[in-house]
Amino acid sequence: MSDFIPLSAPNLSGNELSYVTDAIRTGWVSSGGGHISEFEERLARYLKVEKTTAIQSGTAGLHLAMILAEIGHGDEVIVPTLTFIAAVNPVKYVGANPIFTDCDDYLCLDTEKVADFCQKECDFRNGKLINKKTGKHVKAVVAVHVFGNMTDMYALGELAQKYNLKIIEDATEALGSYYKETGEFAGTVSDFGVYSFNGNKIITTSGGGAFTARDPKAVDRAKYLATQAKNDDVNFVHDEIGYNYRMTNLQAAVGIAQLERLEEFIEIKRRNYELYKSAGLKLLDFQENIRSNRWFYSLITDKKDDLIGRLKESGIQSRPVWKLIHTLKPYRCCQTYEIEKAFYFHEKIVNIPCSTDLTKDDITKVVNVTTHLI
Ligand SMILES: *Cc1c(COP(=O)(O)O)cnc(C)c1O
Repeated sequence: MSDFIPLSAPNLSGNELSYVTDAIRTGWVSSGGGHISEFEERLARYLKVEKTTAIQSGTAGLHLAMILAEIGHGDEVIVPTLTFIAAVNPVKYVGANPIFTDCDDYLCLDTEKVADFCQKECDFRNGKLINKKTGKHVKAVVAVHVFGNMTDMYALGELAQKYNLKIIEDATEALGSYYKETGEFAGTVSDFGVYSFNGNKIITTSGGGAFTARDPKAVDRAKYLATQAKNDDVNFVHDEIGYNYRMTNLQAAVGIAQLERLEEFIEIKRRNYELYKSAGLKLLDFQENIRSNRWFYSLITDKKDDLIGRLKESGIQSRPVWKLIHTLKPYRCCQTYEIEKAFYFHEKIVNIPCSTDLTKDDITKVVNVTTHLI
């Protein structure tokens, strides 16, 4: 198997085993234990926010964000079509409907089109943005920071002010990306930010996620809802309907070890990206004004399917970018607005191996197979 080059494998060669062993020795393996709060504090320090709460997954975090943004039955939420479906499903979990829009040149939500949609397709009355077509209240925007790039949060912030919209940042792919000018991290530039530590993300806790918010009280509330909305540790008092969304101590133990290496991983991702580029591969650029975590590399090609097939024959895992969500069965009847670029990128992008333990030989092999074909 040593010849196989995976797309994005976890790197667990640091203190993971040692910290997990500690957690097991103490007996705290579930939703209690010191590693959870330590992980939350370390993550908050890294992100320069007051608080984070550690949860089961990015998807759970996005669900909590929908609840905290008070999005409910019949409301509408603007989302990108070029993203992973977990960014959109939580809209449906709370009974709301997504409106799909296009991406920009860096694969993130096209904020100019969002502005056009608000201006041309909606009325702003009594502090509410009303979709002319459906008569429904457009309450929020989900901004996904795709592959380590960042959605233009300043443009989106202006729209949020103007139209009284909540902004939810899906920073599941962008932990460590920040604005060079201000140092503000992806996930901390708006009302709510969500991270994922699933196996293929830049750091992993096996499965897991984190939630943060501009208002620290919202973080407390997310933690409360994620812990079955338990008001009292002894008497089983619950004033609301909660969820079992809390991260476990075992996961957090892995997370602490992974956080120790996050900056090192980002440095390796940057170096490998440069190696691919200097070997002549046509990779999509990352934004100049962002220190990107460079989580995933996007090769632009006219021979997507051939290339994926040829790489596979050579033992190299690659993948096309997601199918556009508005074309998928659960979302086909939803409203869309001026989707163009997303179709183009869907046709042209192949994600190539980007694990942090890639060797120079691995990179040469990927480059050789690729340049041979295109
Ligand atoms: C990974 C991912 C999620 C979901 O995170 P999980 O931890 O797997 O639930 C959501 N949105 C995007 C864009 C992702 O890449």
